[in-house]
Amino acid sequence: MRNLLIVLSGPSGVGKGTIVKKLLQKDGYALSVSCTTRAPREGEQNGVSYFFTDRQSFENLIKQGGFLEYSEHFGNYYGTPKAFVESKLKEADVLLEIEVDGALQVKAAHPEAILIMVAPPSEKELRDRLEKRGTESEEKIAERLKRTEYELSKKDLYDYTVINDDLITAVAEIENIIKQEKVKN
Ligand code: 5GP
Repeated sequence: MRNLLIVLSGPSGVGKGTIVKKLLQKDGYALSVSCTTRAPREGEQNGVSYFFTDRQSFENLIKQGGFLEYSEHFGNYYGTPKAFVESKLKEADVLLEIEVDGALQVKAAHPEAILIMVAPPSEKELRDRLEKRGTESEEKIAERLKRTEYELSKKDLYDYTVINDDLITAVAEIENIIKQEKVKN
């Protein structure tokens, strides 16, 4: 069975990060660590949360064709390092936690990739979660909520949508999707 490229997207604060952490506690999954030019948040470690880099180095890697996909949003670059993902795919199913523009680039280049949209039960729920996280200013929260509408408008281009109402249920649903897709391969 071939290992899968599994792309998880969804609005900021929807709980993708927690879902990914839960999946990584199980066997057979590896995480793609993205590059970004945004500054690290408190507690984020280089090479674990992201590879933190500057614009010049990021743009050099773009020119060298080093990204599976990349996009610029909230004023920063985010991209999936191609070599990193290819090496991880030899060992495990690889999870990419990326936004929609990048996800659609992955699907165009790799139609066999599985795109899963993680959606919130409601917009109110999402705002509450972002405020509780407390890492963003009011202005940043408003910016991120505006982006939510755009992200969710692309869900029909995804292979699956999973509502993250209850974490355990959402993780089980995603595992089920992966299991079914593995049988197809
Ligand atoms: P944050 O700044 O909150 O860590 O991430 C902001 C957004 O960037 C999230 O929607 C996240 O999924 C997305 N993102 C993280 N890494 C990548 C990447 O490698 N490529 C793309 N296109 N988006 C990414």
